Amino acid sequence: MSETIFTKIINKEIPAEVLYEDELALAFNDISPQAPIHFLVIPKKPIATVNDLEPDDKALLGHLYWVAAHIAKEKGFAEQGYRAVMNCNEDGGQTVYHIHLHVLAGKPLGWPPYQEKLKSI
Ligand code: AMP
Repeated sequence: MSETIFTKIINKEIPAEVLYEDELALAFNDISPQAPIHFLVIPKKPIATVNDLEPDDKALLGHLYWVAAHIAKEKGFAEQGYRAVMNCNEDGGQTVYHIHLHVLAGKPLGWPPYQEKLKSI
């Protein structure tokens, strides 16, 4: 896959507010926060979309969720709650094609994300 801005962040070619880093993952604040707390957890391995996950990536995905929970506990919002989601492709709202877990917190979050009245098909 072609290099994204997240590869540049992993390689420290562009700056980011890093919250956590290990050999598999990196977490940093989102540049355009959509909640009082909004950070991204990404694998260092470049994987374009959720659709591109291989069986060998299953543990890596679990690790990304572990990192999200670890930071939530460390920062003290784990009990209050948060949302941890990955967008996939156009309808999912994905803009950066290197998978990333959005972690949003700090206020009650709206649900569902799709607000229009559903028509039966
Ligand atoms: P998505 O739309 O799900 O692909 O999410 C991409 C996210 O990356 C958006 O929330 C952007 O605000 C965020 N983003 C893009 N560039 C940067 C950057 N340089 N540093 C931190 N977050 C970024």
